[in-house]
Amino acid sequence: MDRNEQHRQYCKTHREQLRESERKYWTANRDKKREKDRRYYQRHKERIKESVRQYADAHPEKRAEALAALANYIDRIKLGYGCRNPSCKWKSDFHPACLDFHHLDPSQKKYRISGTAIRKREVLIAEIRKCTVLCAIYHRLVTFGLLDDSNFPVCEINDNGDILTK
Ligand SMILES: [Zn+2]
Repeated sequence: MDRNEQHRQYCKTHREQLRESERKYWTANRDKKREKDRRYYQRHKERIKESVRQYADAHPEKRAEALAALANYIDRIKLGYGCRNPSCKWKSDFHPACLDFHHLDPSQKKYRISGTAIRKREVLIAEIRKCTVLCAIYHRLVTFGLLDDSNFPVCEINDNGDILTK
């Protein structure tokens, strides 16, 4: 048995242990893992994109499901807060369609929360944390510079996406 064959045999018989120690290593070195994944993605970008595309084409219902889950989540946060203008006159049972996410610092805005793009949960949460929720009436007044939004509270949600403070 040559060395290569010996090595193969060893890997074969110790597969579970090797996997487990590898898993432990990457859990303890998350930054390295991220960097490794990033480099892997850069090297195989086209192939990965293509297979994601093929999967999406073959499973249109998955995208529909993901969009529905996203819309549900966004509605839950909107309704959980209601309008966050302290002097809102419309305090009542809002319909989610009447509530908007408003970026308190427009320079920090990366994208519109209520768009249709599916993003990673952590990316969505990071974006929501820059926003407050306003009813359509006051959102419009803020947009037209007729209402000061500097005292409106920002959405505070935890990493699971749940509302921390109202
Ligand atoms: Zn309002």
